[in-house]
Amino acid sequence: MLSVQLPVKSGDNDVTGRATAMTNEPIADQNSARFVPPAPAALRGEGSFVRRLSSKFVEAMGRFAAWPLLVALRRALLLSLPLVLVGAFAHFVNALLSFSFVSALPSEVIAALRALCSTLAGGTFGLVALVVVAGFSHSLAVLVSTRADRYPVNPASASVVALACFFIVVAPETLERWKDALSSSRGLPAALVVAVSASYLFLFLARRPRFRLRLRGFGGDPLVGDLFSILPAGMITLFVFAAIRQIQVSFGGPDLTTTLSTAISAPFAGAEPSALVSAAYVLVRQSIWFLGGHGGNMLAPVLEQMMTAADGARAAGSATAITWNFFPIYSAYGGSGSTLCLILALLYSDKEPAIRRLAWLSLLPAFINVNEPLLFGLPLILNPLYVVPFILTPVVQSLIAYAATIGGFVPVADQTVSWTMPTLFSGYLATGSSAGVVLQLVSLAVGMVLYLPFVRIARRLRVAANAEAMRTLIEASESTEVVHGHRLIDLHGTAGHLASVLARDLVDALGSSDRLFLQYQPQVCIEERRVFGVEALLRWNHEIYGLIPPSVTVALAEDMHFADQLGEHVLRLACRQRAAWASSVPGDLIVSVNVSPLQLQDASFDRRVLRVLAEEKLDPHLVELEITESTSLAPAAQAIGALLRLRKAGVRIALDDFGMGHTSLHYLRELPLDTLKIDRSLTFTSQGDLNEHVIRSIVTLSRTLGLRAVVEGIEQPEQLPRFIDLGCARFQGYLFSRPLESGPCLDYILANAGVAA
Ligand code: C2E
Ligand code: MG
Ligand code: MG
Repeated sequence: MLSVQLPVKSGDNDVTGRATAMTNEPIADQNSARFVPPAPAALRGEGSFVRRLSSKFVEAMGRFAAWPLLVALRRALLLSLPLVLVGAFAHFVNALLSFSFVSALPSEVIAALRALCSTLAGGTFGLVALVVVAGFSHSLAVLVSTRADRYPVNPASASVVALACFFIVVAPETLERWKDALSSSRGLPAALVVAVSASYLFLFLARRPRFRLRLRGFGGDPLVGDLFSILPAGMITLFVFAAIRQIQVSFGGPDLTTTLSTAISAPFAGAEPSALVSAAYVLVRQSIWFLGGHGGNMLAPVLEQMMTAADGARAAGSATAITWNFFPIYSAYGGSGSTLCLILALLYSDKEPAIRRLAWLSLLPAFINVNEPLLFGLPLILNPLYVVPFILTPVVQSLIAYAATIGGFVPVADQTVSWTMPTLFSGYLATGSSAGVVLQLVSLAVGMVLYLPFVRIARRLRVAANAEAMRTLIEASESTEVVHGHRLIDLHGTAGHLASVLARDLVDALGSSDRLFLQYQPQVCIEERRVFGVEALLRWNHEIYGLIPPSVTVALAEDMHFADQLGEHVLRLACRQRAAWASSVPGDLIVSVNVSPLQLQDASFDRRVLRVLAEEKLDPHLVELEITESTSLAPAAQAIGALLRLRKAGVRIALDDFGMGHTSLHYLRELPLDTLKIDRSLTFTSQGDLNEHVIRSIVTLSRTLGLRAVVEGIEQPEQLPRFIDLGCARFQGYLFSRPLESGPCLDYILANAGVAA
């Protein structure tokens, strides 16, 4: 009988999965095989009082931001982003055309370019209101109609109803006003109001049984039944909005946007052009921008009135800083909400590539005061996270500029400059002094500081939401449901979105192999006191999300129908590694490769495997394919045939995770097997318990069938003697070594080459 000393040395990995120094310490953390991302400490409510308070705030913000109304609004704005980006680009080019250096071009070319830009802007910005209405109602219907909903509403029908309500309410008489009604600058506030009210009313009614029309016994397209059932709700909603429109027309009132503009401007009547009034003007202007309205347009009467008052004050010899340029160059530069400050804060402190890309993309337009990319992309509009700095920054900037001008540090900004003049140039040209540039730089820095904490909070919330989504993906990928056809990319909410992002990235990662790599976990035979094989385990080091568990990677590959390519890639890497080790490791060292269920369904599976082995010049006897029990739930004749042919060619076949309870023992007879891998769940056994009996039976069974038994997941030294007593000699587990990269794994194999080396 062998002594129960550890036969081999144990390796360890750091949190990134990279191998570190070899130790003899057993690994305590039983769940450490799973790369479940931890929530940030602040979100777990740890640390100082301030940290706990801030975590409560972040949590509350997170809950608020997850409110379906806001989620649907964000999605709707995001949907219009491609239009907005093209429109902003058209504005940008149009603005460049007014610079003097362009005058070298023939005038016809300039005219043609201008026409092109205005067509582009018209076709993109001009459609934003419609996209927002359709996008909002669709998203809201998806969000409120969960799988458990007894009366889910078809999202497309919600869009149709909301669009119709929008047209009923805004329908103007002239073509020119149609453009206004649909545009982002004047049409958006009305679009948002109608989208929210119509969608909520329609969904409220459509989900009530008494407002549903049943088309009993209809056997045709289910969509017909769907649409019939929401007909009463749709009709009532349209009638309500038609009535609203009628009331508005019969009272002869102006359109919704004009009514709002008049109401908001009223409190400013007769106001002086003072620091306080200008701050109040900026505050209201920003609030309108935040709600999706064009603050500048809606407060145009106020600005006009302030300018008249300022001219009057100057004529009377009183000091005032207010000029036509004052607001554009000191508090709206870089776009409303001083988005330039936000861009700098994002570039300074956010490391997420997608956010940085958006910030870089927004930088150039922001310099000429076009800021829609961030307003719609991040988005800033209606985003509770940014409400404070979005409104506060321009207010503070206007107060600083007012004080600097009245204090005589900067000349009054009374020279004419276009609103598209780039920041810093505009400061110089409007004041005729470099002091104007310095003032813009100072308020840029102040704005950036105001935005910074909110950028950090937003990032923490994103990290937390992603960690949660990743946990959902891991659970879903490990559950048997995935095997039965539920796709990760079809999951609802952030998890489904994350799965789609990861699935796309996986396709790219497969092309460039340094992010997709293998680790090798030694398998030891304690009778021979040596490493007899290694299991190749897939690792994906994602540039943002870090190590992705192989279960998720494989499930995503299955979702995207390239499980066989991924499997072939893994097999090739493993074979190449084994071939590279040929002269250093024991000649019979086996490399095991996991095979996903879908790979086995491929009719050419065996041929592909043998082709890879031939290409990598590896003896088939050195390769073992691990199929999981779930794979063999209903072993198709074709799959069994492929495995038989492979086995005939010398490839070994192992049944992985045996004992998890998927299969009936009868499959042991049907499948051509060499090895049984006893699942980790059975290793937590104590003397005389049921697991022990199960393992004893499995060991006896494997002997009877002439199979090799390998016990997986041995972590603690005290687990070992019991298995040895039960007759097991081959093990794989953290007690011996974690999965290692090829270099450390080779060291491990050589250090534990045993009697056969
Ligand atoms: P892991 O590396 O996280 O792999 C988990 C599962 O993902 C694998 O379970 C396998 O089913 C799948 N998988 C990994 N790579 C591939 C691949 O290239 N293709 C396909 N189709 N599937 C792949 P399996 O095969 O049972 O592997 C053993 C798992 O158990 C590994 O996790 C390993 O790190 C972990 N493990 C090993 N020893 C211990 C231990 O002592 N304790 C614990 N908690 N876990 C252990
Ligand atoms: Mg395996
Ligand atoms: Mg296993």
